[in-house]
Amino acid sequence: MLDAPEEGDPTPSLVTYKRVLLKISGEALMGTQQFGLHPPTVERIAAQVKALHDTGVEVCLVIGGGNIFRGLQGSAQGMERTTADYMGMLATVMNALGMQGAIEGLGLQTRVISAIPMDQVCEPYIRRRAVRHLEKGRVCIFAAGTGNPYFTTDTAATLRASEMSCDAIFKGTQVDGVYDSDPKKNPDAKRYDRVSYDIVLQKNLKVMDASAIALARDNGLPIIVFALDEPCGLAGIVQGKGRFTIVEPG
Ligand code: UDP
Repeated sequence: MLDAPEEGDPTPSLVTYKRVLLKISGEALMGTQQFGLHPPTVERIAAQVKALHDTGVEVCLVIGGGNIFRGLQGSAQGMERTTADYMGMLATVMNALGMQGAIEGLGLQTRVISAIPMDQVCEPYIRRRAVRHLEKGRVCIFAAGTGNPYFTTDTAATLRASEMSCDAIFKGTQVDGVYDSDPKKNPDAKRYDRVSYDIVLQKNLKVMDASAIALARDNGLPIIVFALDEPCGLAGIVQGKGRFTIVEPG
């Protein structure tokens, strides 16, 4: 059943994925800090990316910017919204560069690819070139969101995953899947093993923002929600181990 979580549902097993996109929020890089990047946390996530890549899966990454700046917060403080959104997009570039250093420190090749050209810093986004990087085994870190204000990096993740023909989006969070209410506030919250895009939208479940969910639905792109501290790691999750929720057609 896709619309009602049930106790004891078996963990769904995932198909074999060849190419995936990992989406993590900027906040996931803060560790115990209130702001910015926490190097040991960045290194832990980089190690998960390396472990996944070592299994032969091609890996794309989209990282948010909320640990540094969010457009909505800026505009609530009186800033012009589009300017604030560009600041948010620039924050994602900083995070992407931080993650690039950590992943390359583990011996992988990477490219930071920005939706807003900044040639001295990273590559501009050219779809065919990005595909080629993936084919050569490089990890592609897509930065600057979609390059447009009024969007989020969740939508950027869905867009890039669609353009790169990824098999799925893996959304790393603080919790081990999608619940019918906030498990941190409601001890009786029920976790879904599987849930449809439409139920996520109807019930406004906290997975990704609505435009990202709708885009994933329209492109038939599954979203796998898992905890970044899941013991079997991203490499295990991609093989169907551990706990996660799959968002997919109903
Ligand atoms: N942003 C944007 N267009 C995009 C992606 C991001 O304007 O395509 C801006 C927006 O202001 C957003 C900020 O960048 O608040 C940081 O991204 P996001 O909030 O998605 O980061 P996360 O919550 O994942 O850390």
